[in-house]
Amino acid sequence: MAWIGIGSNLDNPARHVADALATLADGAEPRLLARSRCYRTVPVGGPADQPMFCNAAAAVATTRDAPALLSYLQAIESAHGRIRDVRWGPRTLDLDIIAYDDRRSADPRLTLPHPRAHERAFVLVPLAEIAPALSLGPAGRVIDCLARVDANDIAPWRGAG
Ligand code: ATP
Ligand code: CA
Ligand code: CA
Repeated sequence: MAWIGIGSNLDNPARHVADALATLADGAEPRLLARSRCYRTVPVGGPADQPMFCNAAAAVATTRDAPALLSYLQAIESAHGRIRDVRWGPRTLDLDIIAYDDRRSADPRLTLPHPRAHERAFVLVPLAEIAPALSLGPAGRVIDCLARVDANDIAPWRGAG
């Protein structure tokens, strides 16, 4: 089982997030087990003037190993016109593997759990809806990480999710 963080802040963000969830729900593999609502979140890192993000989280069952799942998710990003230019810059769709079972990896190409998830309210708020007790490694459970961050400016995305 894997937990996926979903984000978009370009070109109708809620539609990109909803479409990505629909793609995950359509396929037999991976199989969508749970999804959060969509949230409106303030951009963290990257250019100061970028639009607000739409964020959500999903849980999937998969027979793919973690690198194959990441390749699959990156193909979905590409189908949504994702271009990687500015680090943490605006994007049509970002799909991160937040955790894959209880696997741990320090490989920069695929770090598990995701190395920054535990400090990001925009990841933790949606994830807490579907996996509050999920362990993010040494940082602890999702709800414990969430208690340590400022999530005040995160609100449900009106009209979607
Ligand atoms: P961040 O990783 O801080 O959320 P980002 O999502 O904007 O930033 P990307 O440009 O989407 O970063 O990805 C950069 C690289 O991160 C990818 O090429 C991928 O190999 C690597 N990566 C490492 N761990 C993970 C993970 N758990 N999930 C997704 N990508 C990862
Ligand atoms: Ca990301
Ligand atoms: Ca990413």
